[in-house]
Amino acid sequence: MSQDGMDEYRSWDAAYVLGTLVSSERHEFEEHLSGCAGCRAAVAELAGMPSLLATLSPEEAIALGQGERGGQTPGMLPELAKKVQRGRRRVRLAVAALVVGAAAASGAVTIAVTAPAPPPAQTQAVSETVLNFTPVVDGSLAAKGSLTPQPWGTRIDWECTYTPTPADVPAPQGSGSPPTPEEYALVVVDSRGVNTQVATWTATPGTVATPTATTLVRLADIRRVEIRAIASGRTILTASA
Ligand SMILES: [Zn+2]
Repeated sequence: MSQDGMDEYRSWDAAYVLGTLVSSERHEFEEHLSGCAGCRAAVAELAGMPSLLATLSPEEAIALGQGERGGQTPGMLPELAKKVQRGRRRVRLAVAALVVGAAAASGAVTIAVTAPAPPPAQTQAVSETVLNFTPVVDGSLAAKGSLTPQPWGTRIDWECTYTPTPADVPAPQGSGSPPTPEEYALVVVDSRGVNTQVATWTATPGTVATPTATTLVRLADIRRVEIRAIASGRTILTASA
């Protein structure tokens, strides 16, 4: 008993009957019940609630949890309606907590299934180095990419865009032949200055090349990555690693 005569366990009855007390609280409350007629009476009055709740549709359970709104749901069991009208607010709160708890639990399961935490190894593999290609000579090529360390070397992902310029559209001569595709190479330059050609492709105005190249050179040993025109050997774009 607290000082103002109110029984601090009096509000535990609904939670006890609905089975939402944790084990230690349940033992504590049962010990209290043995010496408190008031709480025993309250528990006895609520004893039928769990089986009553089992007959509820989700809509009825939610209506029950929505509080002082008359509690009148079409089709609600007369016996249940009577209980609700008795104004047992803490019962409604307990039911609302159960409904919300169930929703939260199912939500948590969904999240766990759709978004598993990545294993540490996977997180490490994502540590990529961004390649910011800058033009060495004026041209229509633009590129961006990244280097990703691998157990066997380095993976190079990049995208090379050839933007048409007015200079790329020569005046029609005779029948007008399509523009000759220019050939390009992706070259890795390592810390000792050794060049390794890792990919070749052709580009015409408007094309976008998105190949993936690999090299045995470790990421730590890559000094820069270059895009060169094969015909002239000139470096068009370069990116420091
Ligand atoms: Zn009591």
